[in-house]
Amino acid sequence: MFKRVIFLLLDGARWDVFNQLLKEGCLPTVEKYIVNPGTLLKGVTCFPSTTGPAYLPYLCGLFPGTMNIPGVRWLDKKIFARNRLSRDALRSYMGHEAFLFNQDMENFLALFDFFSHSATLFSRVGKGAKICLARKENFLFYPLAHYFHNWDRINKIVHREIKKWVREVKEGFLFAVIASIDAYSHLYSPFHHKTLKSYIFVNKLVVEIVPYLKDTLLILASDHGLSPTKKHLDLAGLINTYKRCIYYPLIFKPKPKAAEMVSGNGMSHLYFKNSKGWAERTLWEELEKEGIIKLLMKQQAIDFIAGLNEKGEIVVSKIDGEGRILYKEDKFYYNFSGKDPLGFNQEINGICSEEGLFKSLKTPYPDSLVQLTQIFKAERCGDLVVSAKEGFDLRAHWEIPEHYGTHGALVANQMFVPIAINTKVNVNKEAIRTVDIFPTILRFCGKKIPEGLDGRSLY
Ligand SMILES: [Zn+2]
Repeated sequence: MFKRVIFLLLDGARWDVFNQLLKEGCLPTVEKYIVNPGTLLKGVTCFPSTTGPAYLPYLCGLFPGTMNIPGVRWLDKKIFARNRLSRDALRSYMGHEAFLFNQDMENFLALFDFFSHSATLFSRVGKGAKICLARKENFLFYPLAHYFHNWDRINKIVHREIKKWVREVKEGFLFAVIASIDAYSHLYSPFHHKTLKSYIFVNKLVVEIVPYLKDTLLILASDHGLSPTKKHLDLAGLINTYKRCIYYPLIFKPKPKAAEMVSGNGMSHLYFKNSKGWAERTLWEELEKEGIIKLLMKQQAIDFIAGLNEKGEIVVSKIDGEGRILYKEDKFYYNFSGKDPLGFNQEINGICSEEGLFKSLKTPYPDSLVQLTQIFKAERCGDLVVSAKEGFDLRAHWEIPEHYGTHGALVANQMFVPIAINTKVNVNKEAIRTVDIFPTILRFCGKKIPEGLDGRSLY
């Protein structure tokens, strides 16, 4: 049984890049002390595949939809209808509202709650953590790293703090975020030499931890992958030409009729005022009648859109076909007309979530049935959810500097992540969900697994 857990969150690490670097011998300590004696798993993250919401499966064993945190930005239609100036009417975790993330996790338990000594390092998500390491430097140097595009100082602090923590703390949980892979991927590309150097920096961290591995569960895992991006669609601007649309940072326009809330820039929630006002969901049929679906489908940057119809099904639409997902009594049903937008190419008649994952691995959209179902569970989920095609994102203005890497979408390169654990986990599956890691950690540490999780222990 493990007394101590060190979780290094490699923000934005791609499954294939991590594997390639291992193969080329660029991560020798990771290979020798984690992968070889332990396990390397192909993980499937949640939708949206973006920082913050995609930490929740690891930390809470729940999908972002279950926790009603369906994106990096969202709008709560019920609260917005009552008082659009309410603090909880809409949110962006990208700016000063980032500190509200922990409050938005409400009473859900996180891994921090299970250990008497728990700490975060450079994580905006840390509800229940007893200590926030390098707190002052977090405030001071993080914005500077962002502004000057230099993450060396932050990585030096991460190195120093981890070195100290492994020596001093004998029992507990540390959740440390290595942000430079994501940051350099956005700035240059997921394959730029500075991005790759950040993977190699992780190997240096593991060198510090290796002498202290006794009774310690060490996990290296990513929350999402990233795709290179060349073109940006101004989705908010497009909606705005049709209906007055609010979006960050322009959220105070008078009498808005629509809202656009983008995540990772590869995914966006769209909300529409309808004949009953703002409080209720606008259904697919109404949006179709108004021409919104057609307008969106014409955009080269959009891969698919999804929304709820009058029958309670999730409609998934592409230019040449439409699919319908129904979730009933723990089973998933799916049919389509035209070309199958999700790539199953067959009707699905009542399969469980495990089978849903397995079947989806042969399509371009990992875990599509379960992931679309979970996000529409959130009250704050958009009337429409938009997923961008690879090579595109959904935010043209206000993203300074310009982004050359994107995540958030429900596509393989953004959904597959590496998960390396320094102990054997006998999993005979092609891929597992990141949400299964939370109960697995608890079991490894001899802790009781709470009821009602979205994830299942892997052993
Ligand atoms: Zn990012």
